[in-house]
Amino acid sequence: MLSEFDLIKHYFNRDRPARATLGIGDDCALLTPTPGMQMAISSDMLVEGRHFFAGAEPYQLGHKSLAVNLSDLAAMGARPVACTLALALPAAERDWLHGFSSGLFALADAHACELIGGDTTKGPRNICITVFGELQPGHALRRDAAQPGDDIWISGTLGDARLALAGYLNEVPLDEASLRAAAVRMHAPTPRVELGMLLARQRLAHAAIDISDGLVGDLGHILARSRVGATLDVDALPAGDVLATRDTALRRAYTAAGGDDYELCFTAPASARAAVLAAAGSVATPVTRVGRIEAAPGLRLVDAGGHALDLKLSSFDHFTS
Ligand code: ADP
Ligand code: MG
Repeated sequence: MLSEFDLIKHYFNRDRPARATLGIGDDCALLTPTPGMQMAISSDMLVEGRHFFAGAEPYQLGHKSLAVNLSDLAAMGARPVACTLALALPAAERDWLHGFSSGLFALADAHACELIGGDTTKGPRNICITVFGELQPGHALRRDAAQPGDDIWISGTLGDARLALAGYLNEVPLDEASLRAAAVRMHAPTPRVELGMLLARQRLAHAAIDISDGLVGDLGHILARSRVGATLDVDALPAGDVLATRDTALRRAYTAAGGDDYELCFTAPASARAAVLAAAGSVATPVTRVGRIEAAPGLRLVDAGGHALDLKLSSFDHFTS
């Protein structure tokens, strides 16, 4: 039988910390901030049966648990520094712990984000990670900073994660190869950390958010906080590879309001277009211009011809969905 302390020692406590002053093993970790830098801090919780299916593959789950948190740092433009992990597990299963910790550490190491502490308890499977990042004071990409005239940009592609969910739930017929391809986006999202950091450091973007609940809803948070409106060209939204082969109605619905995308939506002045494209190119992250911020409140959805679209879209909300 694996005890709580064996479990932590074996699966989560690695070598001496490289970044933390004191890592796992004491009552608190000690983190010494880089002088003059601001900390960006965020938590995201994943609950079995709510955010992931029971029986989800542990390596992918370890990746995704950290990826959704790194995505929040990316949306702020912060450099990842450290994270903590609060874990509830129904049982201490070695195979699950090995897979989960391997997936988590692979992504953590790729972004030099050190696991510095956490908590472990028995209970329904629940994963809560807190991330700590750093940025220059004044450089954060906040939701309240969009300005009329800004372009609206999207990184990567949208909708394949939602399409995979629809496939699993038999809402949309998907052959096995398509489901497998789309599911990669659902199980292994790519946090756009380098792009977010560049947009902040080069002062290119005004506002940003990561798309977790669907673009229309998440962009709506920028509009509300910035007290502006926008026109969004729905047909310009970059669809995921699998979704791109589907009909227009499904493409529009899932790119505009799919959810679980973990791409960045950011606004930047039109004068920064070339610099945005160059920055995105330098970190091999495609970006697409999909609309414009306007002074008039509200979100106007239009098609490729500029005609108003009346899409019945709803973004995800845990207490109304
Ligand atoms: P305490 O009783 O003070 O809360 P614990 O016994 O829960 O401490 O944890 C012992 C050490 O292991 C602490 O440093 C804690 O941060 C760390 N820890 C516990 N669970 C995890 C985990 N899942 N991942 C990383 N570190 C953990
Ligand atoms: Mg404890």
